[in-house]
Amino acid sequence: MIERVDCVVVGAGVVGLAVARALALAGREVLVLEAEDSFGTQTSARNSEVIHAGIYYPAGSLKARLCVQGRDLLYAYCAERGIAHRRCGKLIVAASAAQEQELRAIQARAAANGVADLQWLGGDQARALEPQLQCQAALHSPSTGIIDSHGLMLALLGDVQNAGGLLVTHSKVKSLVARDKHAQGTIIIEVAGADGDTTLAARQVVNAAGLGAIALTHRTQGLPAACRPPLPTRWARGSYFTLAGRAPFARLIYPVVERDSASLGVHLTLDLGEQARFGPDVQWVASPDDLQVDPARAAAFAAEVRRYWPGLPDGALQAGYAGMRPKLTGPGEPAADFVIQGPREHGVPGLVNLLGIESPGLTSCLAIADEVLMRLD
Ligand SMILES: Cc1cc2nc3c(=O)[nH]c(=O)nc-3n(C[C@H](O)[C@H](O)[C@H](O)COP(=O)(O)OP(=O)(O)OC[C@H]3O[C@@H](n4cnc5c(N)ncnc54)[C@H](O)[C@@H]3O)c2cc1C
Repeated sequence: MIERVDCVVVGAGVVGLAVARALALAGREVLVLEAEDSFGTQTSARNSEVIHAGIYYPAGSLKARLCVQGRDLLYAYCAERGIAHRRCGKLIVAASAAQEQELRAIQARAAANGVADLQWLGGDQARALEPQLQCQAALHSPSTGIIDSHGLMLALLGDVQNAGGLLVTHSKVKSLVARDKHAQGTIIIEVAGADGDTTLAARQVVNAAGLGAIALTHRTQGLPAACRPPLPTRWARGSYFTLAGRAPFARLIYPVVERDSASLGVHLTLDLGEQARFGPDVQWVASPDDLQVDPARAAAFAAEVRRYWPGLPDGALQAGYAGMRPKLTGPGEPAADFVIQGPREHGVPGLVNLLGIESPGLTSCLAIADEVLMRLD
């Protein structure tokens, strides 16, 4: 006998939990299936914990829209639920006349995305805010902030559970079978659990499997081939180095980077305990599990950092942690937009695939959840 549930969310990262919360608050019966032994141990635990303002993304993209909406929803949710966060602001800094041109372009892109609060600062004005900063000009983003991402996920999970939803760990979804003649309008879910395999049937399924989401589309029967992106062969690892000692800045510092760069440059972020970390860089590696930080990269990091902070003492950088970006594109290709496939895109009733939810996925999680509900309905 196959157990039937109303909605299944695959993956208990920040996005899966936000989606499960939205479904549960809408009165649905929700089961979250997570392969690992706890929620939020993957990409959602290995990022910069920055609430992005929505500055960089191409106008009209899902990233631009969901980041701006998500940022506002997230600040409101943090206030409502007492989640630790700080609207510390950030400076994007130009080191040369050429970079100043790019900074103007970033300002224009931000305005097109509805980010209207950026302030242009000359070098001296920027140094009045951050005396240790070296730059020719800067953009100040007052609505950028930092958040305790684990606290966020705890609050999301609490809402899911208070609304009757359930998280089941040690449950890896092996396959989805849609449009099967025996399924009677449901999607069949095969799960490898701690005590062996089980089969469930759900009216609605959301694939929020992060780094595993593309692979799951290849194990989804009934999904058109055109809706399965190629399986990645290279993975974009981002490593961080932490700073021993006091943070030299009160705001986040981001250097200007080229438009289609895979990252936002070796920037400085702060955690809520006032520790500074630098990164993430981009290194293409052969396995999503290759999360080792190479301590030998400290010298390259130091060179990047000294462009905006010449005062970085020798030997002050320590290897930190790394995260893997769930990208849809490979080395040398421009970053892709988030892909949210609902029934209108793939023709399978009750199924939503969330693909390529890289940065700003943390910032956007609550807006992505609203978008998923809309596509399901
Ligand atoms: C280096 C780095 C820095 C970043 N910095 C920021 C930032 O500052 N601000 C920001 O907004 N965003 C940032 N991001 C992006 C953000 O971290 C991600 O968008 C977000 O965490 C994605 O959440 P998720 O729930 O989709 O994925 P995950 O957190 O990876 O969760 C997916 C879950 O699915 C589970 N899973 C996988 N396959 C299966 C399966 N078959 N069955 C069951 N469970 C499965 C996994 O175990 C995992 O727990 C950054 C990302 C990286 C890599």
